[in-house]
Amino acid sequence: MNHQSDFTTLPDTTGSYENTPEQSAEFARMALPLMTQYNITPTPQNFALWYKYTSGRDQVLCTEIDSLRASGREAFNEAVCLMLHEKHMTVADADSLDEISAHLHGLMSQAIDDLDSAESSVCASQETLSSQSKNIDDTLAEHPELQDALSLILQETANMAQLAHDLKTQLSQTDNEVEALRRELSEVKQSADHDTLTNLFTRRVFDDRLDAAVNHAKLTSAPLSIAFLDIDHFKNLNDTYGHRVGDKVIRFVSSLITQHVGASGITARYGGEEFAIVIPDTDIATATLMVNKIRLKLAESRLRRKADGEPLGQITLSAGVAEFVSGEISDSLVHRADAALHAAKQNGRNKVLRDDSEELQITSL
Ligand code: GH3
Ligand code: MG
Ligand code: MG
Repeated sequence: MNHQSDFTTLPDTTGSYENTPEQSAEFARMALPLMTQYNITPTPQNFALWYKYTSGRDQVLCTEIDSLRASGREAFNEAVCLMLHEKHMTVADADSLDEISAHLHGLMSQAIDDLDSAESSVCASQETLSSQSKNIDDTLAEHPELQDALSLILQETANMAQLAHDLKTQLSQTDNEVEALRRELSEVKQSADHDTLTNLFTRRVFDDRLDAAVNHAKLTSAPLSIAFLDIDHFKNLNDTYGHRVGDKVIRFVSSLITQHVGASGITARYGGEEFAIVIPDTDIATATLMVNKIRLKLAESRLRRKADGEPLGQITLSAGVAEFVSGEISDSLVHRADAALHAAKQNGRNKVLRDDSEELQITSL
């Protein structure tokens, strides 16, 4: 890793989070003061990003942060932090950090239990010693040097019990912090997986799930279809009624899609007013029927503006559907579904086109 020489030297690690718990704790310990130094809000997202930086596992991220650090303390404003997060953090990062903190929690609980038994056995010894010393008080009176030695042993034992107790308290506190970090990380993961406006999966999740579904289809030869759906003339709707109404329409369409897809597929917000669905174990005919039901339902919904009841006019969507063919990669399947969506737009909108439909052949001539 090529961090600039005037900065804290960070350990050189390879590109994974598979570090020892001690290394993980060290990266976490280094991330926090750096965040303070650059005046970065200590959100879980920012912590996850800086942990990735201090772990040195992403050369591109390290280079970018190094050059930002060179331009001074003000370099990391909110927009820059957001950009860095968008660009460099993946769902897998949040997953790995979650695993690390779970691991640390496990280790700490074990250490607390060990200290607990150590404390109990030291306390037991202390009690035995002090009761024995009472029994032999008369003998001790004749041997002051033995009395001194015994007092010393009693004192040392008490110190040990206190030490074990203090360590246990300290560890419990750290453990609580790790637990808090775990909770925050699961929030990061939730926000990395889900779109904030619609709560649908993000495009990143769609890409991951599609890859997994393609692998599954290859292994089992089960059918697999995907669909892209895009609201028609959405820009006009935004221009006429404003962005807030536009947002509500996006939410309405996403809930329609979710109702129809249910547990049979993975629905994601692919872009602004565009949605994508992975539909495993389903052929193109069945997938097209399902998507067409969504199209019809939207076309017959008569939405009104809440404030004054003004009708928004007919809102429609166009869609393209494609089925996985043996031997192809996910990108090619995505490309075919996207081309079918494009053809649906070209052919008058408010329609669902299959990748193998005639209109598509005409459009691509
Ligand atoms: P087409 O039928 O060809 O799809 O036309 P369109 O107007 O729907 O498509 P275009 O790509 O021209 O415009 C999409 C618009 O969607 C532009 C953008 O401002 C708007 N948009 C993207 N994301 C959001 C969002 O989150 N909320 C709102 N309200 N609008 C959004
Ligand atoms: Mg559109
Ligand atoms: Mg669009």
